Amino acid sequence: MTDTIFHKIIRREIPADIVYEDDDLIAFRDIAPQAPVHVLFVPKATIPTLDDLTADTAAVVGRLHLAAARYAREQGFAQDGYRAVMNCNAHGGQTVFQLHLHLLAGAPLGRFGT
Ligand code: 5GP
Repeated sequence: MTDTIFHKIIRREIPADIVYEDDDLIAFRDIAPQAPVHVLFVPKATIPTLDDLTADTAAVVGRLHLAAARYAREQGFAQDGYRAVMNCNAHGGQTVFQLHLHLLAGAPLGRFGT
């Protein structure tokens, strides 16, 4: 079974600045923020990468986005805007192999790419 730093955060084995949690997911601030707001939305079910998603587990991706959008509205930056992105495997820049959605906001963000 895959075990990552995010599983340890879910199990409260290491600390994190948790901003939201429900039965299916947890959200906490990134330890190395790339924007004034940088929160990670992580499913509790083990799904290493976007490439591991199946028809049975796909709904969790919608739940991650719903939670991120709700958080943005509640925090008052939805109108200004934000970026929600998932990295997949090496070329996508993924470093933690438990699916997660990055929510980046708080300033105009540069264009992404290479
Ligand atoms: P990835 O590169 O896999 O898309 O994103 C992983 C993210 O997890 C990175 O932005 C990294 O800063 C963050 N991260 C790695 N280890 C920890 C940790 O122990 N705590 C928190 N809060 N974030 C972490």
